Amino acid sequence: MAFSKCKSGTAIVEETRLSDPQHSIKGPAELLREPTLEEVASYIKEIKPLKIVVISGGRISTPLGIPDLRSPDVGFYHAPFDGECYCCDVLDREYFIKNPAPLYQLTSFILEQTYRPTFSHYFISFLEHKKLLLKNYTQNMDDLEKIAGVTRYTQVYGSFYSFVCIKCKKEYSVEWAQKRLFMKKIMMCTNCASLIKPNILLNGEEFPLDIHEEFEEDMKNCKLLIVLGSTLSTEPSATILRGIDVKFPRVFINDVEPYDFSDYHFYCDHEHNDVMWLGDIDSTCKKLVKLMGWCQELHEFAEDKLMEPGECETNI
Ligand SMILES: [Zn+2]
Repeated sequence: MAFSKCKSGTAIVEETRLSDPQHSIKGPAELLREPTLEEVASYIKEIKPLKIVVISGGRISTPLGIPDLRSPDVGFYHAPFDGECYCCDVLDREYFIKNPAPLYQLTSFILEQTYRPTFSHYFISFLEHKKLLLKNYTQNMDDLEKIAGVTRYTQVYGSFYSFVCIKCKKEYSVEWAQKRLFMKKIMMCTNCASLIKPNILLNGEEFPLDIHEEFEEDMKNCKLLIVLGSTLSTEPSATILRGIDVKFPRVFINDVEPYDFSDYHFYCDHEHNDVMWLGDIDSTCKKLVKLMGWCQELHEFAEDKLMEPGECETNI
């Protein structure tokens, strides 16, 4: 498989890291010697528990037929919806208040689907199984990280699998909502009679401030940031990646180019220990597992998670 990668370079060991008593790795090997998956694998094997933060994006779910939002070719925002409006309208707060039916129709369709996680979802879960995962910030609303077994996660844009009143924020279960969606009912809050929506962040709604605070707090303990299947083109990825401590390695794994690295201080060079690895995302995750020598443990993990035989195959 042909991968492209950013230019290699020798990493610089910074004095501030060597004097950090919390840091888990001694000596020059603490940073990547060159921006390769081999170096990333070596680094992961030596890292202390709960030090990896993963930002996962829509491209880890697109192999299942789930569209991401903004890709020009297949992005959900660029598609017409039922001949009446565009999908970008469906996910707009003001539009929803005037006409909730299209979002209900979309939600109903999503809830009828049965998706299995990809290897990339299981990879995040496997990192948690290895007690390495500090937190998974997922930009996806499909719950597939959760289905893969990840418990240490934050759904940045919420989920289609829970419901909330747009005014008083009373929550409703998916079972409660699904019955009403099936009957094509407009769902009104039993507490304040306002509209109920799937618990996703609509365009025109503010991000909760605590997501930024949570991310900043996690960055204090993070020793490796993995961006998996995200082009970093949407908020809050843009904001939260600006100004973070860049002394630890950051790995960008995707099948498409990032939106604009420079805007996120993701320089992909030796000075910042950034690695960009472009290619099939599942295959890259499998390769990392293989390089870390964890194939046997992955197979045991796969049995526990009822993964399909091919999903845990690391011969790529
Ligand atoms: Zn309410």
